Amino acid sequence: MNIHIELTKRGNAMTETAETASDFIRDIIDADIRADKNGGRVITRFPPEPNGCLHIGHAKSICLNFGVAADYKGCCHLRMDDTNPAKEEVEYVDSIKQDVRWLGFDWGKHLHYASDYFGKLYDYAVELIRKGKAYACALGTEEFKGYRGSPDKPGKESPWRNRSPEESLELFRRMRAGEFEEGAYVIRAKIDMNSPNAHMRDPVIFRIKKAEHHRTGGAWVVYPMYDFAHCLSDSIEGITHSICTLEFEVHRPLYDWILNELGARHPQQIEFSRLNLTYTVMSKRKLIELVKDGRVSGWDDPRLPTISGLRRRGYTPASIREFARRVGVTKFEGFTDIALLEHCIRDELNKTAPRVMVVQRPLKVVLENYPAGQVEEMECVNNPEDQSMGVRKVPFSRELYIERDDFEENPRKDFFRLAPGREARLRYGYIVKCVSAPKDPQTGEISELRCVYNPATRGGNVPDGRKVKGAIHWVSAAHAVDVQIRLYDRLFTVERPEENEAVDFKTHLNPCSLEVLMGKAEPLMGQAKAGSRYQFERKGYFFADPVESVSGAPVFNLIVTLKDTWAKIAKRGG
Ligand code: ATP
Ligand code: MG
Repeated sequence: MNIHIELTKRGNAMTETAETASDFIRDIIDADIRADKNGGRVITRFPPEPNGCLHIGHAKSICLNFGVAADYKGCCHLRMDDTNPAKEEVEYVDSIKQDVRWLGFDWGKHLHYASDYFGKLYDYAVELIRKGKAYACALGTEEFKGYRGSPDKPGKESPWRNRSPEESLELFRRMRAGEFEEGAYVIRAKIDMNSPNAHMRDPVIFRIKKAEHHRTGGAWVVYPMYDFAHCLSDSIEGITHSICTLEFEVHRPLYDWILNELGARHPQQIEFSRLNLTYTVMSKRKLIELVKDGRVSGWDDPRLPTISGLRRRGYTPASIREFARRVGVTKFEGFTDIALLEHCIRDELNKTAPRVMVVQRPLKVVLENYPAGQVEEMECVNNPEDQSMGVRKVPFSRELYIERDDFEENPRKDFFRLAPGREARLRYGYIVKCVSAPKDPQTGEISELRCVYNPATRGGNVPDGRKVKGAIHWVSAAHAVDVQIRLYDRLFTVERPEENEAVDFKTHLNPCSLEVLMGKAEPLMGQAKAGSRYQFERKGYFFADPVESVSGAPVFNLIVTLKDTWAKIAKRGG
């Protein structure tokens, strides 16, 4: 059983067991199958609006919709919800398809576009008007607001509400023919201006919009509204379970009303809570702002929670699916700790990524008593978690590099690495002792360490049984290859950058979310293949950037450090 801890809006740790084989949605489907509803079929859909790239929240929905379909041997449609011509672009359609495929899902023949149904949706609106269930309304935007009422005040009926169906039909025809300016008329469903649910107060179902559509071009100047298009698209495609996020719960009466009035095939809408993740933002509007303002390098910036960003960072599809599984499906609104996402990729790479030694901030070490010109091949284990991954040879010589912060001039009591007069073990090498740390006279910075090595301590051997606590990584200076390393940190400095609407979320951007270093790596890394993943010993998991790495000069993205904050949280909560 997995313990899943969700931090609630109030920040309390709340534990919940998620044996994700089942959840409330699968329970509903089980009951439907038992009752032989839909002839036992399960057809779901993932309906993104192609007005931005997908993010990890969408991944939750993708894993759920495609996962449910797979569990019940049904199918899941990919439907571009492209009813708003002004905001949508072809490049987003392509990136959405790429992302869903990359996550490991297949829509088969079922790639659909809401825009394919514009004709049918027009006809459905005509039918509603004919039945006296919709009308052409001429209230201007400002007047419209006045008539709408407020949550505690009923709305007012439009003076056009009771015009005859014939008149409305004629106006709708002329709207479609392009005879009116935008906003001159809208088609509204005739429901109930007194409804406590604002979505039921004669909602607009069609409007005039004189914009080119990326698929239908200039064929239409009237476009359906989301609520009208969505339920009917579901119905046209024969969707059985229309799974969406909780904010659509208040739209459900309208979803049902439209399908009932039209006597259309009626999928069941089921809502679940959306994914919110700490230290990031997920609204497309905000992501677009970061991309357009150049606050990040693009939609695939490795700091973004977009699927393309996570892919570029080095996340695997399996780790994201595992994350979605562990988050589970509930109706609780809450925040998921980003540490859980990091835990999932760390957990996978711990088993699969080969270990290598890479020094990020090099400090030269000269072993005074090691023969100049001598090179030893040290045998290193590729992955202690998986002996089948074997061993490799790493050259060792008189001049090495270690991390600058593995030396301290004035060490604290609990510092177990190198310091003047102190010993440390070079992993897979020898125990060395620092004899001096000369400084650059100009900068005052330590320029190198002069050390002596103990020839009897090769490969971890300690002849006199002494304890040498610190084991540090190193590379041979003469053999090392230069590698660019990009250390990524969280994009925001606060857990919930969107919490306070009065404060621009961008003020919480982490100014240190990217640090670029030139490091020294063991020779093998010169041949690191773009797109491969490694554990840099003692540092973290890294990904050879698939775009910028060139043969012989890899660029590494930090995927995640080795520090597992999630394990700590889980222990505390569990
Ligand atoms: P945004 O609010 O950021 O613009 P959206 O919800 O409008 O996003 P859509 O493209 O309409 O984005 O979403 C497609 C599907 O993904 C919808 O079914 C939506 O419910 C689901 N989805 C979007 N965000 C999340 C999330 N954070 N968690 C789970 N599902 C999500
Ligand atoms: Mg949406």
